[in-house]
Amino acid sequence: MDTSIKTSSLEDLGKLMEDMGQPSFRGRQLYEWLHTHHVSSYDEMTNLPKALREQLAERFPLEQLRLVDKQVSKDGTRKYVFSLVDGVQVETVGIPSRSADGSRLTVCVSTQAGCPMGCSFCATGQEGLTRSLASHEIVDQVHAVQKDFEARVSNVVAMGQGEPFLNYDATLAAFRKLNEKQGLNIGARHMTISTCGIIEGIDRLSLEPEQFTLAISLHAATQLARNALMPKVASQPLPELREALERYTERTGRRVTLEYLLIQDINDSDDDKDALVAFCHGMLCHVNLLPMNHVDGYDFKPVPAKVLQEWCDELNRRHVSATVRTSHGSDIAGACGQLKNKL
Ligand code: SF4
Repeated sequence: MDTSIKTSSLEDLGKLMEDMGQPSFRGRQLYEWLHTHHVSSYDEMTNLPKALREQLAERFPLEQLRLVDKQVSKDGTRKYVFSLVDGVQVETVGIPSRSADGSRLTVCVSTQAGCPMGCSFCATGQEGLTRSLASHEIVDQVHAVQKDFEARVSNVVAMGQGEPFLNYDATLAAFRKLNEKQGLNIGARHMTISTCGIIEGIDRLSLEPEQFTLAISLHAATQLARNALMPKVASQPLPELREALERYTERTGRRVTLEYLLIQDINDSDDDKDALVAFCHGMLCHVNLLPMNHVDGYDFKPVPAKVLQEWCDELNRRHVSATVRTSHGSDIAGACGQLKNKL
């Protein structure tokens, strides 16, 4: 259960202040300290009376992430290991980049410590699930990265450890908090939830009012190859996934991103490509082709860069929108599939 004061809305904090015999404007002050300045102790809330700060500290201890390790990639990506209040560790990645509209800072957050999905190419999946994160633990990762870079976070992706739709409520609550105008005010369209294909979650997200972006870790469009790579979603087969994505695009009018990690001799044949084209045909989607990153102890090999580009060109020629995505932070094991709490 998520009981941190950090999850309270502005309205809730106003009520709390009234209950504590304070004027309600103190609620806004408290909110700003928590979500605009993101202070780590009540002592820093200098415009609140000292007695009130002491009462708050006693009733609502402020939990903080503790930085355990930070590595910086040669491409500027930073990977963090944070310890949560109970000592459980999670990884977060900060990715600075330049785009046509200026500089970007993307934070890849974990929504669970570990992951129960066991995808065969993913270091996180091999560790199993430790626990799901509370919403404020997801939000705090974004604040911590913003503080470390001393730059505004422009984008958030739930692509770190965990399957976000197995922690749906906390993930959505965190994204809403990050989207709030009085908080970090990150645009909903700049926040992406990435799922391995949990149909119930896709359907729920399609009914939410916010325009969060949906990404699917597809990685194979033939059932056999997908079952081998992602055995725990075998019970949610590709035709049902496709139907769910069609419902999603019909309801929301929004395009879905399909992530496809190209792995040599696993999902890179012409038949695999034809299956991907067939899966995408007639659907509002965009394919991101990704190189496989090295994971210690795994035999999976990346395809040559030339093959990635050939796939991309052919998909576009066959009217499937596609781009090749470069991986960030692979030299510090901070790229897709590599997160593992390894120090
Ligand atoms: S790829 Fe995603 S869903 Fe699969 S095991 Fe890794 S973290 Fe979990």
